[in-house]
Formats: sequence, structure tokens, C-alpha cells
Amino acid sequence: MASEKEKAQQVAAVRPPAADQPTIFDKIVSKKIPATILFEDSTALAFKDISPQAPVHFLVIPKKKTGLTGSPSKKSFKRATEWSSMMARTDARQSSTSTCMCWEGASLKQPWADTEACLLAPGQSVFHVHLHVLGGKQLGWPPC
Ligand code: IMP
Repeated sequence: MASEKEKAQQVAAVRPPAADQPTIFDKIVSKKIPATILFEDSTALAFKDISPQAPVHFLVIPKKKTGLTGSPSKKSFKRATEWSSMMARTDARQSSTSTCMCWEGASLKQPWADTEACLLAPGQSVFHVHLHVLGGKQLGWPPC
């Protein structure tokens, strides 16, 4: 368990650019850069990861950021995850897909990550909160 001082040092080490700077995911939301979109509604977007780590690998994001992490409506986020997962499974023609959902910086039981949890996510490269969904093969543990 990291001490408060260690946590502060970790946060400082990975601090992202200013919150008002658009991330690559903002550009995907505004369609300034292309992505393979699996699901979209007014608050959430699911699209294929550009560098898939499994036969099925997509990301679910809130469209609107509040601060660094964003807060989509829970209902919308759940629907986006369910729909895109179903579509990705169909896409991969896998009937026995094992799917892993990996929320950056917080467990799925507490998916509404706070800023610090988001900043502390190990190896995070895009500072727009996102859920990785991986599947299409038997995954090991830890999965990602
Ligand atoms: P992180 O490294 O956990 O923050 O995850 C960011 C993910 O975004 C990585 O898996 C990248 O491959 C993915 N990614 C980065 N840029 C793009 C893009 O332009 N389109 C789709 N996925 C992207």
C-alpha cells in the first residue's frame, strides 16, 4: 500500500497535459480522426482499439470529459458496453469468447474513477477515461 507521499509522487510523475487539451479520443468523438465505431449514443462511444491486444479489443469512453476523467451516465455506459460487446462477438464469429473488461485505474465495481485513480492507472497513455474490452480468445490472468 503506497503512502500518501508515494502516491503524490506517482501522480506527479504521470500527470497528463492540461485537462482542457483535447485528447486523441476527443478527436475520435468529434470525428476529426477516423475510428471503427461499434456503438454511439449521446453520452458514450465504443470503438476498436487501433493496436488490438486480442482478436476483439475495443474501448468504451464517455463522450464528454469533466475534468480529466469524464462522467457518462451509468445507464448509457452500460448499454454501450453491452451493445458493443455483443457486436464485437458477432464480428469475431466466436461463440466461446472470453471477454475481459479492464477499467483503467479503478475496479469495475467502482467504475466511476476519480481523477487520482485515473492518473495512477499503470501505463495509461490516453488521459480520457476508458474501458478496455478484450476477447476472442482464452485470456490469461492478469489479462492486461
Ligand atoms: P492506455 O494506454 O491504457 O491509455 O490505452 C489507450 C489505448 O488507446 C491503447 O490501447 C491504444 O492502442 C488506443 N488508441 C490510441 N490511439 C487510438 C486511436 O486513434 N484509435 C483507436 N485506439 C487508439
